[in-house]
Amino acid sequence: MIMESASPVEYLGTETRLCTCGCGQTYTVSGGKLSYDEGRDVTFELALVQHGDGVRHVWVALISGPWTDDDARDCWTFIHGWRQDEGVTARVEELAQSPWSAVDLEGNRPVGRDEVMNNAPAKTWVFERFNDLVHYHREVGPFVFPEREHGGA
Ligand SMILES: [Zn+2]
Repeated sequence: MIMESASPVEYLGTETRLCTCGCGQTYTVSGGKLSYDEGRDVTFELALVQHGDGVRHVWVALISGPWTDDDARDCWTFIHGWRQDEGVTARVEELAQSPWSAVDLEGNRPVGRDEVMNNAPAKTWVFERFNDLVHYHREVGPFVFPEREHGGA
């Protein structure tokens, strides 16, 4: 892992949305850009969702370039994370199960769960980028682990 003094996350703005599940709660979605490896980056949206039951859900949409040579559209991949003990576990999900199910992807292509899980390099990339955001995005730690202190470090 490369440790840099500057954050690998660039923050591009936050908005509030009404939950699509019908629970009546709102949640925040923040957009940004994540840098990784050397000189690479990927656009993302992060949704921190709580329904009525108080369970905290971390949702990430990774917005990348085309995945295949025969489809030039940019691709959206959806990852659902939740707390497990002292960490965050994650699962790739379909657009329809995600907080973006009612969002206009503006012609971009939603990547299905099977397409990710059947493509080993893509799967590795998706989970690595999700873990990067869990580690480095300033809003994830306080949301998932509210009992921890989040000063300084
Ligand atoms: Zn809900």
